[in-house]
Amino acid sequence: MSFCRFCGEGLTDTVVDLGMSPLCESYVRPEALNSVERFYPLRVLVCRSCWLVQLDEYVSAEDIFTEYAYFSSYSTSWVEHMHRYADDMRARFDLDGNSRVIELASNDGYLLQWFVEAGVPVLGIEPAANVAAAAEAKGVQTLVKFFGHELALQLATRGRMADLLVGNNVLAQVPDLNDFVAGMKTILSPTGVITLEFPHVMRLIDENQFDTIYHEHFSYFSLHTVATILADYGLEVFDVDELPTHGGSLRIYARHDDDLSRPVEPSVKELLGREDAFGLTRIDRYQQFTAQVEETKRNILDLLIGLKRQGKSVAGYGAPGKGNTLLNYCGIRTDFLDFTVDRSAYKQGLSLPGTHIPIFEPAEIDRRRPDYVFILPWNVKDEIVEQMAHIREWGGQFIVPIPRPEIIP
Ligand SMILES: [Zn+2]
Repeated sequence: MSFCRFCGEGLTDTVVDLGMSPLCESYVRPEALNSVERFYPLRVLVCRSCWLVQLDEYVSAEDIFTEYAYFSSYSTSWVEHMHRYADDMRARFDLDGNSRVIELASNDGYLLQWFVEAGVPVLGIEPAANVAAAAEAKGVQTLVKFFGHELALQLATRGRMADLLVGNNVLAQVPDLNDFVAGMKTILSPTGVITLEFPHVMRLIDENQFDTIYHEHFSYFSLHTVATILADYGLEVFDVDELPTHGGSLRIYARHDDDLSRPVEPSVKELLGREDAFGLTRIDRYQQFTAQVEETKRNILDLLIGLKRQGKSVAGYGAPGKGNTLLNYCGIRTDFLDFTVDRSAYKQGLSLPGTHIPIFEPAEIDRRRPDYVFILPWNVKDEIVEQMAHIREWGGQFIVPIPRPEIIP
């Protein structure tokens, strides 16, 4: 039996079992194509006590995150999203040259660079040395470390506390949630604000986004569960935004629970009410998810089998982590997708984990002119359809697999 990562309750309820899958970010080098590959179970559980949706920790965080292939700056829309965020936060919380912004998992400085540009002191904390080096090159001071309570104590003792503490898409990847949240409490200045962004588990369930489940994401959050966890450490959620990023995310705002200078906004109660009505605090809503996911797999395969029977060619677009869950779970290999392309030079020349679909530069699509382009990062489908609009010149069309497979002419 496994136990809840937050509250320690025994976990008895499976939300969905996606079978055996390789690590999503373990792209295969050409010389390794004939070697054995490691597959791990990809089974999602839910805790009946705190409703945290979670995976067992099959692989240690050190193994996953110390040489992470993903450089945030490669997605144009994401960098723009962060530029707006930096401007909004500076205005709303009066951040200036006397403030400090600390980001947990600061990646290549995609966010903190905007604060640096505006003259606000920053500190990034990032365990992957290769991406931290890219941040330093942008003038973003970065500590190459895993964040937790011990590091927070060291920094706080030296007076390095956060007026704005940011965690974007990091909470899901934290193996020891309690240690991480205790660290956030410790490093937050008395009137400081925490913002956390994470994919909203309500959207994941409602829109069949099973491919956002992968080994690197240990936890999947509702507002209900995040507020419960933070409250346990003396932190209170006082506002929440719903964002379109990553298929539907939440940005929560939290502060010390005794800092009454910022009242709790009506948005918090309103969303908690909608989560409740959706069923996130009832076991039966989670139990329905397996049937939904299996039907989505059958629909995706129906579409691809139909196209292949008509003799059509299909190429992939993108090599995101989520694509690998979808392809491995559905059993889609080069029998369906001839190849895929990605703008990240780091991934070009490698193959996708498990399925071994080769990754080329985007120009390969222009050379081979496939009838269909299967968009793996469907969360940025509008951006991709615009970038690749020229495939229509040879009659090319797009396939978007989630929430239900559809063709975009
Ligand atoms: Zn729990």
